[in-house]
Amino acid sequence: MSPPAAISPTLATATPVASKQASHDGAVKKHDVSVADMHGNWDAFRFAPIRESQVSRAMTRRYFADLDAHAESDVVIVGAGSCGLSTAYVLASRRPDLRIAIVEASVSPGGGAWLGGQLFSAMVMRKPADAFLREVGVPYEDEGNYVVVKHAALFTSTLLSKVLAMPNVKLFNATCVEDLITRPGEDGDEEGIRVAGVVTNWTLVSMHHDDQSCMDPNTINAPVVISTTGHDGPMGAFCVKRLVSMQRIEKLGGMRGLDMNAAEDAIVKNTREIVPGLIVGGMELSEVDGANRMGPTFGAMALSGVKAAEEALKVFDLRKKQNEF
Ligand SMILES: Cc1cc2nc3c(=O)[nH]c(=O)nc-3n(C[C@H](O)[C@H](O)[C@H](O)COP(=O)(O)OP(=O)(O)OC[C@H]3O[C@@H](n4cnc5c(N)ncnc54)[C@H](O)[C@@H]3O)c2cc1C
Repeated sequence: MSPPAAISPTLATATPVASKQASHDGAVKKHDVSVADMHGNWDAFRFAPIRESQVSRAMTRRYFADLDAHAESDVVIVGAGSCGLSTAYVLASRRPDLRIAIVEASVSPGGGAWLGGQLFSAMVMRKPADAFLREVGVPYEDEGNYVVVKHAALFTSTLLSKVLAMPNVKLFNATCVEDLITRPGEDGDEEGIRVAGVVTNWTLVSMHHDDQSCMDPNTINAPVVISTTGHDGPMGAFCVKRLVSMQRIEKLGGMRGLDMNAAEDAIVKNTREIVPGLIVGGMELSEVDGANRMGPTFGAMALSGVKAAEEALKVFDLRKKQNEF
């Protein structure tokens, strides 16, 4: 039996800060210590030594490198709920060349998709959204016209793990979008605007603009922004509410009463670029269009994400060209 990780001579040596980093894909390799190796070996057990500054630098070096790299992103997805994560999955897997930033206001990504309706566990999706579950690898029970994932958290955690493992995706959580970067509209459209990125801040800072002053934000430039911030609320429907306050759309349509059959088709089919550079999907779209709500059935969120990714790719080359200046 090989010794536990901590007493293995190779692993117990502290890695110098400047040393070349080796990466590990998480699969068990020949020389890895296994959890089974640790059983019954606790007297000899110890963690590899570390200096506190190494922990600090391991985090900050990566975070600031990510901030630097994503200050110019190809696509920013605002909101990591079921729609935003589905969008990221499709976009990042279809186009590994795109640099994608997800900005999520909450500490915990996943939005409202950790539970089904009324805090029950199961997640219902109407067909054909089962195709998305198969693509991502989420098990479900087939009930005919609809499928049931035994726990909504199983859907969200599986999707989240796939998205976060993608090399071209960076999630900035606990960070909120507090404004949009805009440029004048193209082709002599003086009234119009094009969305050209987002203005960000730590969510905790954004929540204190009323009682603290001079807390300026940060920015991410991007030719395409996809907003999936969910229902109207303290944070929700953020980008479309901003379009109203900057008078780019007259008013929100207001989410209508619950009608599962009407609502799900409408959300998916109408996921689109609302103003140049800004695509809106998920429940945020119901606020613009005055569409019905759908209650606890999540297929529309996943497939709105699929459509949002498709809409983004349709306009990406043009918006990128327009965004060069
Ligand atoms: C009161 C209530 C009613 C509901 N009604 C319905 C319904 O009628 N139909 C339905 O399908 N589901 C409903 N749900 C369930 C669920 O919220 C949604 O189905 C689903 O989660 C919406 O997915 P989404 O991806 O559009 O938005 P969400 O899951 O809400 O995800 C949006 C994400 O965006 C983040 N965000 C918001 N603003 C910002 C910002 N400015 N910057 C960065 N991130 C931001 C949020 O933190 C969140 O993680 C309801 C939930 C609640 C709590």
